[in-house]
Amino acid sequence: MAQVELLPEITKFVERPPKMMIGGRACEADSGETFDVIDPSTGQKVTEVPRGRAADIDAAVAAARQAFEDGRWSGLRPGKRTEVLYKLGELIKRNISELAQLESLDSGKPINIASGEMWTAGDVFRYYSGWPTKVFGETNPTQENMFVYSLREPVGVCGGIIPWNFPLIMAAWKVAPALAFGNTIVLKPAEQTPLTALRLAELCLEAGVPEGVVNVVTGFGEEAGQALAVHTDVDKIAFTGSTAVGRKILHASEENLKRVTLELGGKSPNIVLADANMKRATKGSMLGVFLNSGQVCTAGTRMLVESSVHDDFVSALVKATSSMKLGHALDEDTQMGPVVSERQLQTVTNYIDIGRSEGAEVVTGGERDTGLGDGYYVQPTIFAGVRNDMRIAQEEIFGPVATVIEVADVDQAIEVANDTMYGLASAVWTNDLSKAHRLARGIKAGTVWINGSGLYDPSVSFGGYKQSGFGRELGVHSMEAYTEVKSVWVNLK
Ligand code: ADP
Ligand code: MG
Repeated sequence: MAQVELLPEITKFVERPPKMMIGGRACEADSGETFDVIDPSTGQKVTEVPRGRAADIDAAVAAARQAFEDGRWSGLRPGKRTEVLYKLGELIKRNISELAQLESLDSGKPINIASGEMWTAGDVFRYYSGWPTKVFGETNPTQENMFVYSLREPVGVCGGIIPWNFPLIMAAWKVAPALAFGNTIVLKPAEQTPLTALRLAELCLEAGVPEGVVNVVTGFGEEAGQALAVHTDVDKIAFTGSTAVGRKILHASEENLKRVTLELGGKSPNIVLADANMKRATKGSMLGVFLNSGQVCTAGTRMLVESSVHDDFVSALVKATSSMKLGHALDEDTQMGPVVSERQLQTVTNYIDIGRSEGAEVVTGGERDTGLGDGYYVQPTIFAGVRNDMRIAQEEIFGPVATVIEVADVDQAIEVANDTMYGLASAVWTNDLSKAHRLARGIKAGTVWINGSGLYDPSVSFGGYKQSGFGRELGVHSMEAYTEVKSVWVNLK
């Protein structure tokens, strides 16, 4: 086992222990309480972080409000904001090894994959660094004696509530656009994975983001998260997480009608047609469902396979899956790490039991892996003989569990693909151009990957149909989420 050695910076960071960031100051929780950060690869405590609650959210929102109103950020020349955001992207890139180790320790993500993700998080900042200089308004054709134009202004104080599956990337998805369009933000990372967000807050200051513009409060969902979601001085919430909590966020927004964008769960179809390149389809489908131990909102968990290739596809998939190396996150050979927490381990193994009792057949995996010690390891698991109305085909499991459903043809593939409350993503494997485009039109989902899966880019808008959310993040459409439009009428007479 080639386990990477922890950098001295990591030991120092966790021994401090890390604090929250409010108004540019590192601080404890108002109550003085902390909670433990656990390494999923071992089940051991890594460090502890402040247990922020309503009082801490109040302080962070006040800091963000002051920083917004006095224009220390939105009032900067757009080119200056570009410079700072670009520098932040570069700082993340320069600190990839350190950030990747922190992320790996905290989330159980294989170290090599974590390194790639850290690069991606930096890239989100580099992408958004181009935006401050491109926030144009319009002139409107009205009456001869009027001059009408629009201004795009920042929304104000934003709240970002994020999950534990891609901690730093999710932080970047919230912080970068908020800042690019002139807002300030209070970020609440998931209680399972607070570390890289705290490090990001430090890097923001180092890059020249003024104090109070980015605030990070660590804490639990029902405490810090809820307090942020209901806060009447917060103008907008950007949430990524479960559909159940997304509903609560929406309810919490009602008092001050804050703007809300939601990026929620999925149960994405991964459609394999008979004419597909089977080698590519097998590998792509496998990565599409098991990457990050299946803890991905876009995971292609429902594999809809055309009858004539069904059996061959299943055996190829089983063969490829059983060669995946499950292991400790800091082991460089590891392809799949543990799931994030003991609770998630329970949830996932419980769903595996449900699948068995529903009559689906486990064709590989199906158990917790105890050979690797006390970490939260689950074997990559494939169910065949699945009907789309089974719970394992309808409910988001968020673990390494795939379901294979046989379909007769393209029409049935579309019907089954859409028979879900979700609509986040989808993948299609085929060499038939017409079928590919028919599926792309027919599937009700925010993303369709053709002969690929898990592809993202900061320039490509991302979001869900149906109960997978509303609003779009990234790309040109993110401007809608982080700006208000003001129409100005000038009477020329
Ligand atoms: P999971 O169940 O997989 O942990 P969640 O949707 O519960 O996913 O968590 C996503 C984020 O939402 C986390 O930061 C979590 O702390 C936060 N959260 C959970 N419950 C609430 C809530 N009631 N209000 C606001 N935020 C919440
Ligand atoms: Mg953790």
